[in-house]
Amino acid sequence: MTSARTRARMIDRIKQLGVEDQRVLAVMSNVPRHVFVDEALSHKAYDDTALPIGHGQTISQPYIVARMTELALGAAQHEKVLEIGTGCGYQAAVLSQLFKTVYTIERIGQLSKNARDRLNQLGVRNVRVRHGDGSAGMPDAAPFDVILIAAAAPIVPEDLIEQLRLGGRLIFPVGDEVQELRMIERHEDGVVETRLEKVRFVPLLPGLA
Ligand code: SAH
Repeated sequence: MTSARTRARMIDRIKQLGVEDQRVLAVMSNVPRHVFVDEALSHKAYDDTALPIGHGQTISQPYIVARMTELALGAAQHEKVLEIGTGCGYQAAVLSQLFKTVYTIERIGQLSKNARDRLNQLGVRNVRVRHGDGSAGMPDAAPFDVILIAAAAPIVPEDLIEQLRLGGRLIFPVGDEVQELRMIERHEDGVVETRLEKVRFVPLLPGLA
């Protein structure tokens, strides 16, 4: 169920869908996704689908994690990344192997605690897990090279742009029923927004739980 062959199939699928960055593919073949889902679902851990992680939330589809990670690596530097919506911590674990420090924030206390425990167990030392509402980013830890939002906001989160370094990237889904993945790059003379593909994420919600 969690064999090398099962993992290789997941990587093949991600490649078929167009992710080519070898760094992303290498890291994703190493990070054990089955550790991040309930044992009862571990036989599905390497399928290219989102899976429930409790509290009405999901672990993102592997392809989407790969795609967003590939976009993240296009930032000018790879020192500090902020992830909004830790969930089970899988995306953070992937980012931890490609960025010097990962900050991740989750509004649901139990998910945040579980993610922290799991990352500790795996020996991941460069991820700072915080329980909080990430809607306003993390001003006290800014600026970031990348801000990646793992939940969909109804409108473009423009306030977060000022927490980006020059050459930095904000990667986020936007919309309600129909959502789109977008990227905003911060340059010296302004920002460039790119509209990418249709996606499906859980909503970004205010407050703590
Ligand atoms: N990154 C995860 C996917 C998490 S799903 C992965 O690796 O698979 C999105 C998460 O965002 C959910 O756990 C949800 O609780 C969280 N979330 C939603 N709104 C939030 C907010 N305002 N601040 C922080 N986390 C939020």
